[in-house]
Amino acid sequence: MKKQLKEFGELLETKYKGYDINGHRGVAEGRYDGFACTPEREPVSGVNPNLKDLALPFKEFCKKNNVELVQDVWIGPFTAFGYGYFDEIPAGYVIKYLDFQTTMNFVKVNLWTWENGTQYIWECLNNKLKNPARLNSHIEKVERKDGKVYVTVNGKVEEYDKIIVTAPLYIPNKRADGQVGMVDYFDTRDDEMALFKKIDYERYDVQAVLTKPEDHPEISYYVFDNMIPERLGHLMVYYRRWKETVDQVITTYALRKHRNSNEIPYEKVRQQVQDDLKTMGNPASEVINEWSVYYFPHVFSADYADGWYDKVEAMQGKYDTYYAGEIMAFGDMDETAEYSRELVERFF
Ligand SMILES: Cc1cc2nc3c(=O)[nH]c(=O)nc-3n(C[C@H](O)[C@H](O)[C@H](O)COP(=O)(O)OP(=O)(O)OC[C@H]3O[C@@H](n4cnc5c(N)ncnc54)[C@H](O)[C@@H]3O)c2cc1C
Repeated sequence: MKKQLKEFGELLETKYKGYDINGHRGVAEGRYDGFACTPEREPVSGVNPNLKDLALPFKEFCKKNNVELVQDVWIGPFTAFGYGYFDEIPAGYVIKYLDFQTTMNFVKVNLWTWENGTQYIWECLNNKLKNPARLNSHIEKVERKDGKVYVTVNGKVEEYDKIIVTAPLYIPNKRADGQVGMVDYFDTRDDEMALFKKIDYERYDVQAVLTKPEDHPEISYYVFDNMIPERLGHLMVYYRRWKETVDQVITTYALRKHRNSNEIPYEKVRQQVQDDLKTMGNPASEVINEWSVYYFPHVFSADYADGWYDKVEAMQGKYDTYYAGEIMAFGDMDETAEYSRELVERFF
C-alpha cells in the first residue's frame, strides 16, 4: 500500500499535472483551466492529454495506473461521505475533491471543524454584502426574452439583465420533499434540457440519533465493509462531533442507490441503519431528526468524456443565464464557492 500511495502521489504530480484545478473545464479535451489548488488560488491553464483519463470511473482509473490499493484510502472520505461508489463515479470528481494533499490530511486526521458551524460563515459573509441574500424567496417561474430575465418570486415578477443559477439544474425523480430542478420552472431551451437531463445525484440518508451514555461510541467511525454496492443501504459512517461530551446527537449516513440498482425505499434504509447500530453496539435510543438529501449532482463517465462540462461552459451567458452551484465543480462548499468566484471573475 505504501508503495502504491507514493506512486499515486507522483503520478498525480506528473502524468496528471493539472488534475486538481477547480472545475472540469477542458478536462475531456486534455486541458486544464481554472484556479490552482494553492493558498493563492491563482488562475492556471495548460494542455495535458492524460487528463482525459479523469472521465474513467475511479476504479478503472486506478487499475489503469496499477495503483488499485489506494482505493482503500480514498474510499472513507468519498463513498462514506455519500459521493457514490468507485465503479460508477468518474475519477475527475474523486481526485479534484480528494486531491493528494487533502486525502493525506484525512489519513493523518489533520482536520479542523468550524467552532460555530459553517452556516455562520455564510451569515458573516452575507452581512458584508452590498446586496445581501433575500431569504424565504421562492422562485416560481423564470422567463428569458428580449434580452431581459423575468423572475417570478413570491408571486411578483421582477426584471433583471442576467441570472446565475446555483439551485439544482435537474432532478431526475419526483422527490418526497418536492424539490425540483431549474428545468421545471425556467423557460428551458432544448440544449439546456438535453444536457441537464444527464445529471444524476446521490440519495444520501442522514439520521441524527441519541444513544444512552453507556452505548456512546468512543469516536466517529467508518464501516468499511458497508462501502460496497452489495451492502447498499447500510450504515457507512457514524459521526460523533465533539470528543469531550456524550451530550450530543450522533449522525449516521447511508446511500440508497447505485447507478445500476433500483432506489431502495427510504423506510427500509432507515430501519436497516438502526439495525446496524444495534449490531455495532451503539443502538439509537431515539431518532431526533432524519433527512433524505439531494446530494452530489454529477454526470457519469460517458457524458464526462463526451465533454459535458465544455458544452455547458459554452452555454454560459447564451440565454443571459450562467450556471454555477455544486454540479459545476464538486458537491462540497470549498469547490462550489471557488467555482462561483471564478465564474464571476470570468464574466462580470
Ligand atoms: C447532509 C449534508 C452534509 C454535507 N456535509 C458537507 C461537509 O461536511 N462539507 C462540505 O464542504 N459540504 C458538505 N455538504 C455539501 C454542501 O452542502 C453542498 O455541496 C453545497 O451546499 C452546494 O452549494 P450550492 O450553492 O450549489 O447549493 P445549495 O447550498 O443546496 O443551495 C441551493 C439553494 O437553492 C435554493 N433553491 C432551490 N430551488 C429554489 C427556487 N425555486 N427558488 C428559490 N430558491 C431555490 C435551495 O433552497 C438552496 O438554498 C453536505 C451536504 C449535505 C446535504
